[in-house]
Amino acid sequence: TDLKHIRNFSIIAHIDHGKSTLADRLIQWTGGLSEREMSAQVLDNMDIEKERGITIKAQTVRLNYTAKDGQLYELNLMDTPGHVDFAYEVSRSLAACEGALLVVDAAQGVEAQTLANVYQSIEHDHEILPVINKIDLPAAEPEKVKKEIEDIIGLDASEAVLASAKSGIGIEEILEQIVQKIPAPKGDRDAPLEAMLVDSWYDPYLGVVILVRVVNGVIKKGQNIKFMAGGTEHLVDRVGCMRPKIENLPELAAGEIGFITAQIKDISQTRVGDTITTVKNPAPAPLPGFKEVQPVVFCGLFPVDANDFDKLRDSISKLRLNDASFSFEMESSAALGFGFRCGFLGLLHLEIIQERLTREYDLDLITTAPSVVYKIKLTHGNGEIELHNPADMPDPTKIDEIQEPWIEAVIYCPDEYLGSILKLCQDRRGLQKNLTYVGGRAQVTYELPLNEVVFDFYDRLKSISRGYASFDYHQIGYREGDLVKMSIMVNAEPVDALSMIVHRGSAESRGRGMCERLKDLIPRHLFKIPIQAAIGGKVIARETIAAMRKDVTAKCYGGDISRKKKLLEKQKEGKKRMREYGSVSIPQEAFIAALRMG
Ligand code: GDP
Ligand code: MG
Repeated sequence: TDLKHIRNFSIIAHIDHGKSTLADRLIQWTGGLSEREMSAQVLDNMDIEKERGITIKAQTVRLNYTAKDGQLYELNLMDTPGHVDFAYEVSRSLAACEGALLVVDAAQGVEAQTLANVYQSIEHDHEILPVINKIDLPAAEPEKVKKEIEDIIGLDASEAVLASAKSGIGIEEILEQIVQKIPAPKGDRDAPLEAMLVDSWYDPYLGVVILVRVVNGVIKKGQNIKFMAGGTEHLVDRVGCMRPKIENLPELAAGEIGFITAQIKDISQTRVGDTITTVKNPAPAPLPGFKEVQPVVFCGLFPVDANDFDKLRDSISKLRLNDASFSFEMESSAALGFGFRCGFLGLLHLEIIQERLTREYDLDLITTAPSVVYKIKLTHGNGEIELHNPADMPDPTKIDEIQEPWIEAVIYCPDEYLGSILKLCQDRRGLQKNLTYVGGRAQVTYELPLNEVVFDFYDRLKSISRGYASFDYHQIGYREGDLVKMSIMVNAEPVDALSMIVHRGSAESRGRGMCERLKDLIPRHLFKIPIQAAIGGKVIARETIAAMRKDVTAKCYGGDISRKKKLLEKQKEGKKRMREYGSVSIPQEAFIAALRMG
């Protein structure tokens, strides 16, 4: 297609403002799918995505639209992930486009991720077209939202489309604005190939599929291509686009977005943001902006039933085929047996993987407390290590300095919840950087240690604001922190799975809380069991589980034999689910419950 007739755009929005619904409408309007095929949301194709209503992987669809000027246009629509954990993927998708539809819910107005996404879009020099969605809702206030877009974001909203993706209002106007206002891509099809790797995924039939934006040159079947950052070479065996059904094409040229396959076995060879060129006539330099994504949150995943270890390994390997951004390596714990230490882009990413393992692969899992990556400077010039697992913390005498990652968080909320939100941030060692008001709503910026956010910050924020606060963050680097490893000892033996790294100031209350919970969670034994929280050798909290008086069956006075049998059987059942810890049996539920409450 002639460059003049191509438009590449993405849709940006806060979660739930209607991005996927609008994308589906645009596909339907331009004839990509029949009504029947539209029954399920097309762009969100994973179960969990559907249930949570979020988009995990970016997807792209090519639409053909004959505009009112009588010309036929090729529109490439990119759906982008809506959550902060996937910020880098969003950024790469945006880099592949010249414009964006900014979807704002007519009843909710501008929210934190609307802003975060819009700023990214502005950074990529996009033409941004505001769309006020859900005008069918009784609570819709389109004029107020227009004003918010102008006041808060500073965009001209006078020509914002008033739309309802649900009822199909405003769809044609959106398509016309795309054609008229979004600039056509630039590029030179005769130059050496430069294509950006926007996304990749594993397809059971096609193998690894790569989504590309061709910046210069042409990509064709039979070409030998090279990944400039990854360093590997591959033979292109298929070139095409999605409508959203797969369609093979002879080539993708400068300005176009589409997919290729190249007999790639392992998704880890495909790095989002990499530059693809040809082996024969390579580009002189890669495209700018490539960044290797690194997991920031780690936790251990263990099978509840030790016999499921192989199944867990197979399932994790399969998931990894589709998601190169999470990492895993084998780990063994005295308390939990064999499992994996896994790394994620953020907490939501962690939850998604955990949920998919549980649901799609039918595994019962224990997840240890999430931990961030600490940098530890060792004494006596012994260098620096990265700590992914609290259990590996060196002896305090060998530590010169511990550094922890910090984030800058922007929270957007109605004024009445501000007080409790400030308190929450304060309790989590936050440093307030900015506070402004926009139309009855507060926007507050905090610097926070990531370690204080990974536990339950987001849940707490949602609950104290009744769901009205929205939150966005990015990392701002490492800072020294007064951090210590807190060990939990049951019957004088440290339980590695329960150890965690905490700020010295909150160690005591955390330790006390953990001991109190474990006291209730671990059943009585024939002997007294001390439960202690300790830092180094120093005990900071202590509880004791009293010894059991009688055998469970003693109550039955030998009368009812079958009842006695049942009780014994029940006891045996319970045993199976216990982890023997030294001489103490700790039920799985105790680990889960103790860790859940962080
Ligand atoms: P996304 O998270 O931005 O992709 O949002 P979705 O497209 O998944 O939509 C979130 C929810 O809003 C879904 O329940 C949709 O059915 C609903 N929704 C989307 N557009 C409209 C609309 O125009 N009107 C109404 N009433 N609901 C809508
Ligand atoms: Mg969606």
